[in-house]
Amino acid sequence: MALDSLTLYIVATMVAALLGVMLLFFGREQNIAALRWWGAAYVLGSVSVALWTVIGDRFGEVMPMLLSAVGLIASAMVWNAARVFHGKPPSLAGLVLGAVVWIASGMLLDPAAHTQRLTIGASLVVIYATLTAAQLWQERRASLQRRWPAVLVPALHGFVLMLPILLGHVLRDANGAFSTAWVTIFSIELVLYAVGTVFIIFMLVNERVVSAHKRAASIDPLTSLLNRRGFADACARLIEREAREGRPVTVLIFDIDHFKSINDRFGHPAGDEVLKLFATVVVNNLRITDLSGRIGGEEFAALLPCTLEEGVVAAERVREAFAASGIVCDEGPVDTTVSIGVAGGPAGTELEVLLAAADTALYKAKRTGRNRVETASELPLSLDRFRRQRAALSAPAQPDQLIAPT
Ligand code: GH3
Ligand code: MG
Ligand code: MG
Repeated sequence: MALDSLTLYIVATMVAALLGVMLLFFGREQNIAALRWWGAAYVLGSVSVALWTVIGDRFGEVMPMLLSAVGLIASAMVWNAARVFHGKPPSLAGLVLGAVVWIASGMLLDPAAHTQRLTIGASLVVIYATLTAAQLWQERRASLQRRWPAVLVPALHGFVLMLPILLGHVLRDANGAFSTAWVTIFSIELVLYAVGTVFIIFMLVNERVVSAHKRAASIDPLTSLLNRRGFADACARLIEREAREGRPVTVLIFDIDHFKSINDRFGHPAGDEVLKLFATVVVNNLRITDLSGRIGGEEFAALLPCTLEEGVVAAERVREAFAASGIVCDEGPVDTTVSIGVAGGPAGTELEVLLAAADTALYKAKRTGRNRVETASELPLSLDRFRRQRAALSAPAQPDQLIAPT
């Protein structure tokens, strides 16, 4: 069965147009600007190719030149889509530069200099394809393995478009027109490019959505600090990194004093504001290398890559700043104080162990008057033993224990 090159060409154009409409639709639904750029590029590119096929030759030299310029703008839009996808602004100069160079060269060069003009046109497309590939390559979060199709597909596209330059004589027939074989190759490549790029786009979008969900799942929406899970994950990484260098780590647990009474007196929304304020105080008074999170209702924690003594200094700073934050409600001033438990451990101490020890210190701070920093005198030797002791302390006494020994 022989492939009819014209049919193939039309199918290729229609596939690209359809994918463009799909991307436009999806980009609007999901509010992803990059997909709208990509979709519009495909639609514009397909329309220019379709017009060229239908009316290209009817208006002499001008129409093919203008339609190629539109095609170049479409190539530039694909590159801009990749830029927008990576959070960069679209380059409007880059958008039209290729088309301007193309039209200028068409006006300046001898109309008979077909090869030269073709070389310029194909080179411009290759430049845009290379820029697109380079932009997609910069997606650092994606693993190397996942990045290669994002680079290979535009690169292949650029290569196929280079072919008429490299093999100019081979691809043309006796009349100087492109051979059927070339149109077939080009059409197949166009379909592969269009489908391949859409596949890559969805892969990248999917990756981004997954990482956004992951991030959202580890953030506390009220304070924007890490939640308990996010804090634990980030701490595990920090502890491992510090352990490799043999450096100690220190944990701080904060519990706002008489918070229930703040809620009761000023209302729950005011309580929420106090929580937000406390989160800001914590962040402002710790270093950028420290981790902090909201681990419970009005309980916060921080992990500092430093010694216990340095941790106590940081804790005092937070305590004083919160006490001095002086917020005032309609009902009057709100007393804001916090009790803090601090525990430090040698390199590689587990978070759970540090939290348990800091919790004991916090308990002591509450018992001895609140608005103070207490340090853990020792780390629990075994977390299991610590838990058993804790459980025994808080569990109701068993009936047989109530019988006094005789
Ligand atoms: P203490 O000084 O002993 O820590 O007393 P406290 O009142 O702070 O401690 P308690 O654990 O009895 O109360 C904590 C309160 O925190 C109870 C709960 O209603 C409130 N809370 C927990 N989560 C939120 C929240 O997201 N927003 C607000 N406004 N309140 C919260
Ligand atoms: Mg509490
Ligand atoms: Mg409290």
